[in-house]
Amino acid sequence: MSSETLFVGTIITVDESRPRAEALLVRDGRIAAVGDASELRGRAAADAQLVDLGDAALLPGFVEAHGHPSDAAIVLSRVMVDIRPVVLATAAEVMQALHDGIAARPDGVVFNGWDGLLQTGLADPTIQQLDERAGSTPVVILHNSGHVAYFNTAAARRAGITRDTPDPVGAHWEKDAAGELTGKGFEVGAVLALLGGTLAAAEHELPDLLGGYLASLNAVGITTVSDMSWDARKRPALDAARAAGGLTARLRLYEMSGPGVTASVPLRNGDELVRQVGVKTWADGSPWVGNILISFPYLDTAGTRSIGVEPGSHGSANYTREQLDEVVERYFPDGWQLACHVHGDRAVDRVLDCWEALLERHPRTDHRLRMEHVGAMSPAQFERAAALGATVSILIDHVYYWGDVLVDELFGPEHGGPWANARAALDAGLRVSFHNDGTVTPAEPLRNLAVGMTRTTRSGRRLPGAGGVTLDEAIRAETLDAAWQLFSEHEVGSLEVGKLADLVVLSADPYTVAPDALPELRVLATYLAGERVYVA
Ligand SMILES: [Zn+2]
Repeated sequence: MSSETLFVGTIITVDESRPRAEALLVRDGRIAAVGDASELRGRAAADAQLVDLGDAALLPGFVEAHGHPSDAAIVLSRVMVDIRPVVLATAAEVMQALHDGIAARPDGVVFNGWDGLLQTGLADPTIQQLDERAGSTPVVILHNSGHVAYFNTAAARRAGITRDTPDPVGAHWEKDAAGELTGKGFEVGAVLALLGGTLAAAEHELPDLLGGYLASLNAVGITTVSDMSWDARKRPALDAARAAGGLTARLRLYEMSGPGVTASVPLRNGDELVRQVGVKTWADGSPWVGNILISFPYLDTAGTRSIGVEPGSHGSANYTREQLDEVVERYFPDGWQLACHVHGDRAVDRVLDCWEALLERHPRTDHRLRMEHVGAMSPAQFERAAALGATVSILIDHVYYWGDVLVDELFGPEHGGPWANARAALDAGLRVSFHNDGTVTPAEPLRNLAVGMTRTTRSGRRLPGAGGVTLDEAIRAETLDAAWQLFSEHEVGSLEVGKLADLVVLSADPYTVAPDALPELRVLATYLAGERVYVA
C-alpha cells in the first residue's frame, strides 16, 4: 500500500508565499507537495489515499508553546483530586470536594486547582483550619496557578518540613509573627518539596498517563507541545511512553533551572519527536496570589482581601537581579535558549536589564530569549524586548477567565484592561505565541484565537485598553511563530514542502466564521507525521 495521502479542499498553509492551496500531498510522513488540485492529482501515486475535506479546512497542527505535559498528566489523573475553577465553579463545591477527598483518602490527599478569585468566597486556608478539617491525614491543596501550596501539619511532617527548614532558592515557607509555619509554601521549590512523595509514587504510571494526556491535546488539534517544567529524572518514563507508542505529539523540553547546576544534556540532543531546546527560569510569581512585582498597587477589594494581599501592595519578585544574573550565567553561555516566567512590569524591567547585560557579556544573534505570560508588560517594554531580539509567549486565556477579576478586583481598568497585550507586542515587532500553560487553563487553541482577537471575558465584557489581533496573527501565534519560539519552524508550524505532515482538520474555514464563534469550530481529525492520531 502507498504511504501517500492527498488532501483536497480548503488548505490554510500559514506560508506567506502561498497562504492558501487546493491540495496537499503527504508522502512518508512529510509534505511532498502543496498546490492546485488538478496538478497534485497528477503527481499522487495511483493508490494514494484521498481525503476530500468537503466543508472542512486543513491547517498546520497547533503548537502549544508553553505547556506542562509531564506534570499535567499526573495532576489531571486520579493521583490528585481536581478542584480547578473550570471544573468546580463555586466555593461550596470546593469545600464539599475537600470533605469528600479527605474522607476517601485517609492516608493522604492532594487537591489541585484552588482559586479564591474565581471560586468566590474561598479564603486562603490556614494550617489550623486544615488541621481541624483533616486531623492526621496529610493534605496539600495546590493553587490553580501552581505558585502556592496550602498544607496541614501532617503534610508538613510527612515532607519533613519544620519552622527551621530553610527556604529553597526562589521559594519560601510563609511564617507567622512567632516564626511558625502558616501552611503556605510559595513557588516551585516549596511545591515540589510538598509533592515529592506523591509524584514519586505516581512515577510508574507516568508513561500511561502521559500518553493519555497527549491524546487529549491531539483532540484539540495540538501536535507539538513544550514541557516547561521538564526534569531529567522523568526521562525513563518518557522513554517508556515513547517505546509504547504513546508520544502522539512532539515534545520540546525546557529543563527547570535549579541552584548550582547546569543543563543535564548537551545542546545538540534528541530528534524530531523529543528534543530539549531550552531552560526555564523565573522572575516573579502569580497575579492571583499577590507575588508579581508591579509599579502600580493592588486595589483594596473583597477579592484582594480573600487572597491575603495587603491593599496597596506592589507585590514581590522571587528572584533578585543578582540571582537572575547567577542563573542565566550557568546556561546561556553554553548556547541554551532561556524562557523566563515574568508577569509584573517591574519584574519585566529586571529581566530586560539582566538580559541586556547578558547579551553584552555573551553576544549571540538569534538567541530567541523568551518571556513567558507577560501579563502587565507595557508597550514600551515590548519595544525594548524587540530591540534585544527577545520574544514573548502570552497566556491570552487570562483575559477570558480572569478578565473581570483583573479589572474589578485587582488592578482597575487602567492596568487590568490591557493585560496580556498581544496587540502591543506585535506592534513592537515581536513574534508572539499564545499558550494555555498546562492545567492553568484548558488546552483550547481555538478559544485563544478568539480571545486574542476580541479580548472578551467569560462574562461577555470587552476589556478596555488594548486592541485585538487579526486572525492571521492569531493563527501564527498558535502555529508558525510558536514553532519558531521552540526552534522548530524548520520542521513544523506551516504547510510547506519538506516539513513534517502535522495537520489539523477543522469543521469549517476559520476565516468564514465570526471571531466569537471560533471556539465552536470542531476538530475533526489530527495527524502527526501523516498518521492520524485523533478522529472525532
Ligand atoms: Zn507554566
